[in-house]
Amino acid sequence: MFKRILIANRGEIALRIIRACHEMDIETIAIYSTEDKDSPHVKLATESICIGPGKPSESYLNIPKIINVALLTKVEAIHPGYGFLSENEEFVDLVNQCGLGFIGPDKESISLMGNKSRARQLMLENNIPIVPGSQGNVDNIQKLKEICNKIGYPIIIKASSGGGGRGMRIVYKEEELEREFLNSKSESNASFGDDKVYVEKYIVNPRHIEIQILADKFGNVIHLGERDCSIQRRHQKILEEAPSPRLGESLRKELGRVAVKIARLAGYINAGTVEFIIDEEGKYYFLEMNTRLQVEHTITEMVTGIDIVKEQIKIANNMKLGYEQKDISLQGHSIQCRINGENIFNKFLPSTGKIKNVHMPGGFNVRFDSYIGNNSNISPYYDTMIGKLIVKGANRLEAIKKMRVALEELGIEGIKTNIELHYGILHDFDFVKGNYNTSFLEQKLSGEFKNFYLEMENYYGTKY
Ligand code: ADP
Ligand code: ADP
Ligand code: MG
Repeated sequence: MFKRILIANRGEIALRIIRACHEMDIETIAIYSTEDKDSPHVKLATESICIGPGKPSESYLNIPKIINVALLTKVEAIHPGYGFLSENEEFVDLVNQCGLGFIGPDKESISLMGNKSRARQLMLENNIPIVPGSQGNVDNIQKLKEICNKIGYPIIIKASSGGGGRGMRIVYKEEELEREFLNSKSESNASFGDDKVYVEKYIVNPRHIEIQILADKFGNVIHLGERDCSIQRRHQKILEEAPSPRLGESLRKELGRVAVKIARLAGYINAGTVEFIIDEEGKYYFLEMNTRLQVEHTITEMVTGIDIVKEQIKIANNMKLGYEQKDISLQGHSIQCRINGENIFNKFLPSTGKIKNVHMPGGFNVRFDSYIGNNSNISPYYDTMIGKLIVKGANRLEAIKKMRVALEELGIEGIKTNIELHYGILHDFDFVKGNYNTSFLEQKLSGEFKNFYLEMENYYGTKY
């Protein structure tokens, strides 16, 4: 087994990985920016090295610096976490060229699946359903118009290198097409340094269902069931649950089978996620494959009992999967709420600064993966997600009730958070019935939740 690993990330996921390493008697090297000097990942790691200022391009995205630290501290492998360099082929290539292991897939699978229009092409060639749309990227407005007329409006323009819901534009009529095409291209360029876009039919009111995959270097591929991530805002996930409350047994089996097939087609190794959308008739379409650990891997761990980060490390260390598909069974129900530092009463603008006081929830099957504590500095340089509250219940209703209690207990003073929004979702009767799709949150926020918000604002008065 590896003796030393460098973690090229920060925040809760750095802690998550450090803990798994220490349980496996692996030493950890943390890297950090000056903004994060008091962060817990810096204290918890075996050794920690400052690699630059807060701006990600000068620290967590600075490839030469990170590789230098890895070589100087004599680690054997690098875990990239999620975000940052986790899906960067150039980074994987350099890591390997320097004789270090990358805890993730190889650069070929990343480049195949990271380019979303190329991945669509692979699915098309192998008869896996994809949302109707362009074959490859679209580079001129004339061609785009033709395709959209053929597939019919509404359509969605998407960034080929996209992620995190950025660069997406929904278009309802041709008059808006050119403007949104240019908007999407410039947002994609700003976010990903690549302005290539493609187009898909916009599926109205779909559910987002994804399958967790594990694959070793000996050709063994298994899946760990599904996650329902349909509670989203601006195409970004807010709350996830496993299993999905409205997936029948036959579709569940089919999605698992197809996800394993896709991982094999991509020659995929390590942990990965195949994302699908399901339309109102129950028809499924491949959306994308994320070639990394995902934020919501936790709920799959809760219902399968498998530590996905440890499995990633074992796979990278040339070990065979310890499980066959028949060994995987799901027990109970798990929900995760992403706790974000944002002002839900003012356009969800990021809320940063010093946390004065935190009260963490606890109890049987309650897990809080976060990096916050009293006096934590929440920096404007990074993602607004400051923690993940995860519960497991014997069944869905128990999980919902447990989450309500845990949310009541969780207290964060000093910055604004979305805790009340989660509280609203967990008490919404449509949510409780499992009756929701990806439009749920936007609809509630412009309808029923508006009153809930107003009442809360009146109640709390100037505190908000
Ligand atoms: P998806 O892209 O399907 O929404 P996830 O839900 O796993 O996948 O979100 C991962 C994305 O979240 C990353 O690519 C990154 O943009 C963002 N992100 C959230 N929190 C962090 C963090 N602590 N560090 C880096 N990136 C983060
Ligand atoms: P990202 O890489 O940003 O995660 P995805 O392709 O995974 O992008 O899509 C993110 C979300 O955007 C989906 O979960 C879904 O809510 C929405 N979405 C993407 N494509 C479509 C589509 N063709 N029709 C309807 N919704 C879509
Ligand atoms: Mg996605």
